[in-house]
Amino acid sequence: MINNRATILVVDDERINIQILNNALRDEYNILAAMNGGQAIKVATESLPDLILLDIVLGDTSGHDVCKELKNNELTQHIPIIFITAQSKAEDELKGLELGAVDYFRKPFVLPLIKVRIKNQIELIQKTRELERMAWVDGLTGISNRRLFDKRFFDVSKFAIRNKRRVSIILADIDFFKEFNDHYGHAKGDAVLKKVAQALQQGASRPLDLVARFGGEEFVILLTDSSDTEGALVAEKVREKVEELAIPHAKSTVHKALTISVGVATSPADSAPFDRNDLIEAADRCLYEAKSMGRNSVVSVDFRPPSPD
Ligand code: GH3
Ligand code: MG
Ligand code: MG
Repeated sequence: MINNRATILVVDDERINIQILNNALRDEYNILAAMNGGQAIKVATESLPDLILLDIVLGDTSGHDVCKELKNNELTQHIPIIFITAQSKAEDELKGLELGAVDYFRKPFVLPLIKVRIKNQIELIQKTRELERMAWVDGLTGISNRRLFDKRFFDVSKFAIRNKRRVSIILADIDFFKEFNDHYGHAKGDAVLKKVAQALQQGASRPLDLVARFGGEEFVILLTDSSDTEGALVAEKVREKVEELAIPHAKSTVHKALTISVGVATSPADSAPFDRNDLIEAADRCLYEAKSMGRNSVVSVDFRPPSPD
């Protein structure tokens, strides 16, 4: 099934071919057109179509060269390309496929066949995209997963060290969650994890903040380019947001409502290189301290990497 309307770029130096394909496809897809190689690259880079139908014999260049250029560009390399051509020699077909094209349409067009093959291709693209999205999302809560956090933390810490910026890691762990599950049942526990995830997202809502499920009933927030006090402020804000959910927790000895404890570590202001695991461990020690202080609280630290000697 095709969910949302896909966009197809048709590249052909003969207007009549573009017209034929446009007439055949426009009811189901948004159609963009280009009549030479330069235009094709420009439209592809600007509009990022879902699929490109690319003529091999173009006025200013060959479709093969356009294909190479698109495959060498990070922005466009993932866009599937189908060659369209009057050339019907096996070598031509092979060359196109070796350059990374996914299929090959011959002129004169057999439109019913083209339509089915395009439909299959678009469905494959949409399924692949959904799978890629799912690979970065936590299945239960719908927020980012540990895998995305690890990747983003890697990129962000490199950027921070290079540009003298600070990074904060906030670890938040639900208080007495074992007791909650034991008392209210695992399904209620799952529903609570979703609510807590949403509350954390509301509390850390700058566009570059990343809130992810770290594992079990523990969450992590990554703050990019944070100021001296920001880590602690965001941590306090998310702690309050969870408290405001006012989820009854009869077995919590601190509050009778569900709460979180939060640990925060912020990387050095002078951007001394730091180890990512050390920063997480520093936040984890703060979290442990927040738990031992009586839970439902925030402990933060300015992290200093140990000196080499
Ligand atoms: P503390 O206040 O010290 O953090 O105590 P706690 O009970 O929250 O911590 P503990 O590590 O002893 O227990 C964590 C609990 O979290 C145990 C486990 O059943 C629950 N949990 C972890 N993942 C899930 C999940 O996906 N769904 C549900 N419902 N519970 C989960
Ligand atoms: Mg816990
Ligand atoms: Mg825990």
